[in-house]
Amino acid sequence: MKETKNKNLEKRPPIVVVMGHVDHGKTTLLDYIRKTNLATREAGGITQSIGAYEIEVPQEPKSQESEANREIPRQAPRAFGSETQARRDDFARATRKITFIDTPGHEAFAKMRGHGARAADLAILVVAADDGVKPQTKEAFQTIQKEKIPFVVAINKIDKPSADIQKTKQDLGQNEIFLEGFGGTVSWQAVSAKTGEGVNELLDLVLLASELENLNYDPNEKAAGVILSVRSDRQRGILTGAIVKNGKLKNNDIIATSSARGKIRALENFLGQPVKSLEPSSPALILGFEQMPQIGEEFSVYEKLPEDIRKIEKNGKTESKPIPANQNGESAKLNLVLKSEEAGSLEALRDLVKKSAAEIPLDIVHESVGNIHENDVKLALSTNAAIIGFKIKIDRAAQNMARAKKVLILNSPVIYELEKEIKAYGQKMALKEVRSIEILAAFGKPKGKEKIVGGRVILGPIKNQEKFEIWQGPKMLGEGKILNLQSRKKDAPEVQTEDEVGLLAESEEPIKIGSKLLFP
Ligand code: GDP
Repeated sequence: MKETKNKNLEKRPPIVVVMGHVDHGKTTLLDYIRKTNLATREAGGITQSIGAYEIEVPQEPKSQESEANREIPRQAPRAFGSETQARRDDFARATRKITFIDTPGHEAFAKMRGHGARAADLAILVVAADDGVKPQTKEAFQTIQKEKIPFVVAINKIDKPSADIQKTKQDLGQNEIFLEGFGGTVSWQAVSAKTGEGVNELLDLVLLASELENLNYDPNEKAAGVILSVRSDRQRGILTGAIVKNGKLKNNDIIATSSARGKIRALENFLGQPVKSLEPSSPALILGFEQMPQIGEEFSVYEKLPEDIRKIEKNGKTESKPIPANQNGESAKLNLVLKSEEAGSLEALRDLVKKSAAEIPLDIVHESVGNIHENDVKLALSTNAAIIGFKIKIDRAAQNMARAKKVLILNSPVIYELEKEIKAYGQKMALKEVRSIEILAAFGKPKGKEKIVGGRVILGPIKNQEKFEIWQGPKMLGEGKILNLQSRKKDAPEVQTEDEVGLLAESEEPIKIGSKLLFP
């Protein structure tokens, strides 16, 4: 197991995400793999998902000479070096573990990308052999390319009479996914997630592809990783599913993300068994966060909980520094779903959005012609996106859902209006030229509409009694007003950029840690 390329580094198993179009079999594939390849046979131990599971691939998959069960190709997605065979042999003796992120596709991914964290090392792009390349296949491929994540293709549902592997390969080629043996280098495997045909071979491909990535970790570094799931349990408190990516995560570690912190009171593996420590690529259930971290955030372990953090929690005052979690790479980004009446205007809308967003990085997660339906809102919700509509209607179900889930829709038949709105929205997201306070602490139980919160002024000046909007990521959650403003524990008529502040505020909606108050 100890393969030392560098004296400090140890090898870790790949973390894999399954992507592809809806109904192409992502969940079925994940279920099949979980059922048949659990690292231990105590599958019954899994009660509730923590967002990932670990498997051990059987040592020698049987290979039959059929299209579906062909031998593992000798060419992997990226070219092998000269020592290929030796490395492959080495690898066969090494670990054959794989960690799967068990929320398929898009959803898990988008959330993670949103926070600048990259949980997965490798992707499996699933395409149904009876359906071919579909919009979300393309989207998944775009994400894979953008994130530069190595991937393999699983052509699924080959047990179906209507399956056409050849046609699917052609279809993939037409979409610039060039498979090995078909003019390209992308490894692929024909599988049936239903019967299990080809799945072992697929897992072998995954191991082979990940071997080329040199996935290592430093056992001497403080542990770090990514949050995958969060839920609250009446008896046990906040239960956080996470994946360790570096160092060793240990019981009693002091841990923080950019919105939550705590001390690990108990650590469990993905089978729900208590453990003292967990190594990288392991899914972990963490008990001990004092606030709910957000999915996709990175966590790090700290030597000690800095004094100033304790202070905000203990005495409810707001003389705090921003918490020391890893904020690297967390930058404002506009995730957008574009809808327009016809193809030509969709192109115009895309150009407009690019122009209006100026320097703010854009991610167009989906674009299509037609009215805004519930599906668009669902997609926007799962990808933390806003919907931009040009010359189209919003159907009732979509409208209701957007209202309930606070998905922002900017819709107008007038291009100039839309431009103005997109610009304003972009500025709010980037907190550029928009005065704002980042909320770092919330105190006590809110009494009615009154809330006491603390934070830092990102851009001032901000005056007492001013009205604000409450934003969480791309969503505006409500509005409010400052009733009392404090800085350095004293009432202040006005506060400036970078000031640490305390607020007595009035609002219908809760003001949570991690939210931003904007003063447009
Ligand atoms: P997802 O939306 O990509 O997660 O797709 P699901 O895993 O939910 O699968 C969609 C449907 O296709 C379900 O009814 C599955 O039972 C079916 N399905 C998935 N994989 C296969 C397969 O390999 N063969 C057949 N015949 N059906 C499959």
